[in-house]
Amino acid sequence: MSVLIKGGRVLTAADDYVGDVYVEDERISLIGESLDVQADKVIDAAGKYVLPGAVDPHTHLDMPFGGTVTVDDVESGQTAAAFGGTTCHVDFVIQPPGSTFAAALEDWKSKANGKQVIDMGYHMAVTDLKEGGTLEDLAALPDEGVTSYKLFMAYKGALMVDDETLFRTMQVAAETGALVMVHAENGDAIDVLVKEALAAGHTEPKYHALTRPPETEGEATNRAIQLSRVAGSPLYVVHVSCAEAVEPIAIAREKGWDVWGETCTQYFFVDYTFLERPDFEGAKYVYTPPPRDKANQDVLWNAVRTDVLSVVSTDHCAFLWDGQKTMGKDDFSKIPNGGPGLENRLQMIHEFGVRAGRISLNRMVELLATAPAKLFGLYPRKGTVAVGSDADMVVFDPEKKVTISAATHHSKSDYNLYEGTEVTGSPEVVLLRGHVLVEDGELVASPGVGQFVARARFGEELKAQTALA
Ligand SMILES: [Zn+2]
Repeated sequence: MSVLIKGGRVLTAADDYVGDVYVEDERISLIGESLDVQADKVIDAAGKYVLPGAVDPHTHLDMPFGGTVTVDDVESGQTAAAFGGTTCHVDFVIQPPGSTFAAALEDWKSKANGKQVIDMGYHMAVTDLKEGGTLEDLAALPDEGVTSYKLFMAYKGALMVDDETLFRTMQVAAETGALVMVHAENGDAIDVLVKEALAAGHTEPKYHALTRPPETEGEATNRAIQLSRVAGSPLYVVHVSCAEAVEPIAIAREKGWDVWGETCTQYFFVDYTFLERPDFEGAKYVYTPPPRDKANQDVLWNAVRTDVLSVVSTDHCAFLWDGQKTMGKDDFSKIPNGGPGLENRLQMIHEFGVRAGRISLNRMVELLATAPAKLFGLYPRKGTVAVGSDADMVVFDPEKKVTISAATHHSKSDYNLYEGTEVTGSPEVVLLRGHVLVEDGELVASPGVGQFVARARFGEELKAQTALA
């Protein structure tokens, strides 16, 4: 099947021009000013942007957590992603303590089987190197295309690892060419603060934030940076939410160290006061790190403008407010941590980043597609519009007005973090390897079209599948 996208404004992290893009056999094969070719399908993109499909390196689909399971499975989560212009994501396999990495990976792959709407890869979240997981098995994962290890420095008694496990994983990563990702918060200190709050009878959602002060994020971020220096591994700090964590990353990057940071859409828009909303409404915003004081939002915009932070992800980890979040009605520490967001990242960053004059269109593409593709071994197959790249593309209508709402989103969650927000600009047609996923507001392709992508090692390119390669 061939597709011709005609006359759109093609935008990559570096380029901005009007042209035609021709797709054959799932890849982009020709780009030119006015292509004289026949195609099975022609898409008129005049007046529209042609963007690379966005890449979300931080999602949690079909994941057991907090005594329940996230409400979006691979099909509903990836459908939401597709409508939002995200055509590839990297999900977290969580090693159940005592389990081998291979068994955990197999389990996650079986949950995706036949349901995939977009392409996907996996990170391995290391929780245990004493019972089930061995250093040898950890070292073997990059051969399977799993080229990043995630460690939780928080969630004591559940996912949290000690510094020995963190450091040993960094040493393995330094050997195997994997990227180490950390959820940076001081889980021990937070555990003390949570117990004290509950003992004092403080049970409301706002105590989720009050027991996780920003200094605990700053401390853990700096600890991970320093340890990664000793081990010699590259480091990627996920969901950076506050100035206290931005600062050590800025210092490390200033020194030229192999340290990168991401923030997530919600940290630009949801602040601490959302947790104080009455009638347990605040529980919708219980995710980790918690929503911070509003002053941090400018810090984060500056950080993504100046490449102190290099990626905007979603940390999509969706639960129902009614039925799952309510598990913590009388105890904030029992509210499942996480929120939906996979569908609205491009719309929100376009509206409040680009249209508000904070970042350029090129920088938006870089933050949402190119940088995550490069950091996670997907580039140049993913993350750009170029000859030889996978034909993952978004025809984006910059004039389309949309009101974001749970009533129309595709996540199974019963609420949306940005409910009622009006944006101008939204994906119109979304393609995955040349297959039309979304058109005229409908999911066109069937689940199963998405594939597992074996990612390249850190710093290496994922070669396009060309006859010449
Ligand atoms: Zn997460």
